[in-house]
Amino acid sequence: MKKISIMGSTGSIGTQTLDIVAHDPERYEISGLSAGANVELLIAQAKRFKPAIVSLATKSDADAAKPHLPAGTKVVYGEEGLIEVAAGTDADVVVTAIVGSRGLPPTLAAIDAGKMIGLANKETLVTAGHIVMERARQRQVSILPIDSEHSAIFQCLNGEDRSAVNQITLTASGGSFRDRTRQQLEGVTVAEALNHPNWSMGAKITIDSATMVNKGLEVIEARWLFDVTYDQIDVIIHPESIIHSYVEFADHSIIAQMGLPDMRVPIQYALSYPERNVTPTNRLRLAEIGKLQFREMDFNRYPCLRLAFECGRSGQSAPAVFNAANEVAVARFLRGAITFLDIERILETVVSRHEASDMNDLQMIAEVDAWARSMAETV
Ligand code: NDP
Repeated sequence: MKKISIMGSTGSIGTQTLDIVAHDPERYEISGLSAGANVELLIAQAKRFKPAIVSLATKSDADAAKPHLPAGTKVVYGEEGLIEVAAGTDADVVVTAIVGSRGLPPTLAAIDAGKMIGLANKETLVTAGHIVMERARQRQVSILPIDSEHSAIFQCLNGEDRSAVNQITLTASGGSFRDRTRQQLEGVTVAEALNHPNWSMGAKITIDSATMVNKGLEVIEARWLFDVTYDQIDVIIHPESIIHSYVEFADHSIIAQMGLPDMRVPIQYALSYPERNVTPTNRLRLAEIGKLQFREMDFNRYPCLRLAFECGRSGQSAPAVFNAANEVAVARFLRGAITFLDIERILETVVSRHEASDMNDLQMIAEVDAWARSMAETV
């Protein structure tokens, strides 16, 4: 029996993780769940999976949930509550399915408590990859990727000699606006941007896919997860999202991982690794797909990806600034305060005003993150 805690159980990755758990109750059990503000869904999840502890973002929501929770389920709230769910249960695995860099402190707490990490929350690695990976190494904790591209690379590298890796290529669907020119991006609406062609995901990552920031975050995530240089990471447009990513080796062999675009496959792999279990998903039938297409990445069409590579290469605090500015810009776009193209303008401006510096602890990271957020709110 594998015991699991989920940070962000009411979101897209969180609910799909619970779907995997529900399909295999002999194998998986829930120890803790945490949500932001979706009290109703968290209560329903608690009734079904009977965790020892649940957490909500605010005290008032936690108080509202309390009378409806099963006997034996404790309720906590806020950042401390999130840390308790991540680190204070008997879970073997913590799935980090919360959005944004607020996932960093609870992820580090889970690592300190010796929990294996199923990592969906890429912003954590972008913000503080050096700290997270070093802490995991010290504590001998595995970080297993849930992002489909990184799960693909992880599977391609299985049993391979890392020194024989030439290049890692992340595939990108191109997002909601992949067939539009830059001129056609003027005046696009929030609803249009949220309409992803292949994947059903949370709002923030769907916008990040349309700007290609998501791929930029994934490039930085890959650098930390697989200990490769930025020169070894490439991105290619693959509209069908069937090849989830691939690795080229020294002999020019390429190993790719394929599957239908369904996050339950990489979620299950992170939970069951090194075993492979049956997932409640459809089979990929290549004859039905017919053909797969690939296009060179156009960095002029997607300047945010170029900027992410630049921030990654600058290192130090630059990726954290890129990430924090993006979180704010996307939130502003989603609430209708700025246009779609303003997102990249804000990112360029905030990054250009920042001088990268060392970030050796959480305090320094919090300061850099706060600076980038306040700048991104006003430019
Ligand atoms: P969603 O927006 O669907 O879900 C986010 C979750 O975080 C919700 O459960 C939400 O709770 C919770 N949350 C929000 N604010 C807080 C808070 N202050 N305290 C505690 N919990 C909070 O996001 P996704 O599932 O799409 O994405 C989650 C992460 O996984 C992101 O980092 C994303 O980049 C990554 N990812 C997602 C993929 C996908 O297919 N969705 C694919 C690969 C990676 P509530 O709803 O109750 O407010």
